[in-house]
Amino acid sequence: AIDFKWIRDNKAAVAANVKNRNSNANLELVLELYERMLNVQKEVERLRAERNVVANKMKGKLEPSERQKLIEEGKILKEGLATLEEDLIAVTDELQQEAQRIPNMTHPDVPVGGEDCSVLRKVVGSPRMFRFPIKDHVQLGKDLDLIEFDAAAEVSGSKFYYLKNEAVLLEMALINWTISEVTRRGFTPLITPEIVRSSVVEKCGFQPRGENTQVYSIEGSDQCLIGTAEIPVGGIHMDSILAESALPLKYVAYSHCFRTEAGAAGTATRGLYRVHQFSKVEMFILCRPEESDSYHEELIGIEEHLFSSLGFHFKTLDMASVDLGAPAYRKFDIEAWMPGLGRFGEISSASSCTDYQSRRLGIRYRPEASSSSSPKKGKGNLAPTQFVHTLNATACAVPRMMICLLENFQQDDGSVIIPEPLRPFTGGLEVITPKS
Ligand code: AMP
Repeated sequence: AIDFKWIRDNKAAVAANVKNRNSNANLELVLELYERMLNVQKEVERLRAERNVVANKMKGKLEPSERQKLIEEGKILKEGLATLEEDLIAVTDELQQEAQRIPNMTHPDVPVGGEDCSVLRKVVGSPRMFRFPIKDHVQLGKDLDLIEFDAAAEVSGSKFYYLKNEAVLLEMALINWTISEVTRRGFTPLITPEIVRSSVVEKCGFQPRGENTQVYSIEGSDQCLIGTAEIPVGGIHMDSILAESALPLKYVAYSHCFRTEAGAAGTATRGLYRVHQFSKVEMFILCRPEESDSYHEELIGIEEHLFSSLGFHFKTLDMASVDLGAPAYRKFDIEAWMPGLGRFGEISSASSCTDYQSRRLGIRYRPEASSSSSPKKGKGNLAPTQFVHTLNATACAVPRMMICLLENFQQDDGSVIIPEPLRPFTGGLEVITPKS
């Protein structure tokens, strides 16, 4: 339920926000469609009332001529109503479609502008100095027999890969270690469906169709492959009213992710950096509105803890308005040092989406009626329901973690040391050595 009335009443602020976020949303058209919908709605209601009047008159005793007149009147009303009801469906659909593109509002602390305007929040560690010529992860993957790109290109196409030998253990270890770390902090582990309805993709704020969509659609169905577990986790409570005592709900979800990467030409694409399929562990929180800022801090804190434990050199950024995408109110990205690339690369992203997704997904909660403190009471003395806030954050997107691990922890003999926290999850394997 997008709040069109609010959008209309706050037109100037919404227009400024659309501009600051460089969004392609058409606010004028949305407002025009909204007015049109209200008018058609009014007309529909008027005709329904008239029809009821006629129907009631018919119940009484009538002269045959009068009855005939009413029958004629009723027929005309019925036809008019049918046309108007069709109009109402059409204008509502168009309104919903256009309104989907209006981005969330923006946290007042978010810097306005493009990528260059993002604000540095934190730096951890420093780049490792190598005393030998380094290899990038593609070379290491080849020399250590860990990653197979050529066969994957033949079998699936470009931007696919096979993981082999210790790389398989490493992926499993990253996933298991991450899930156990996050679960320890009170998150419920989930493995999600990886095919979802397009409508759910849309309600989470992603475009399932269109030229530049990141989403793979399944031909002949209304379903898509997920680009992130955020979508099935967001959907798990859709169309429901949660008890306030059930909040916050914290999930840590493992899934594969599928992305078309349309429009990504020219950006860093070598090796594992930008692929069509990868494994990811995602955190997701549903909470009361007043708590979303503090859970956002908790999520970025968990990410920073995970990446420091592995010994990465990274920085945390408060992303600028243009980089937020439609659903986020505020977004913190983490970029880690990738020696092969010779620069930082994004490894994770933590977003607060306020009520953007919950409105569309229909996820509400009912505040507990605390006698005097709740201002308005709804029916039966119950407090009115409110939309929850949702937040999502990457705990471990495997391919770029793999890049960081291989490139940062390579040794001059061509081996790669596995960071300590992962060793209980690799069956004790401490170092990946060249096969003889
Ligand atoms: P996003 O859901 O777009 O915020 O992405 C979350 C994380 O997933 C990013 O920080 C990357 O580490 C990773 N990621 C996103 N897209 C890709 C891709 N095409 N290939 C590999 N990793 C990706």
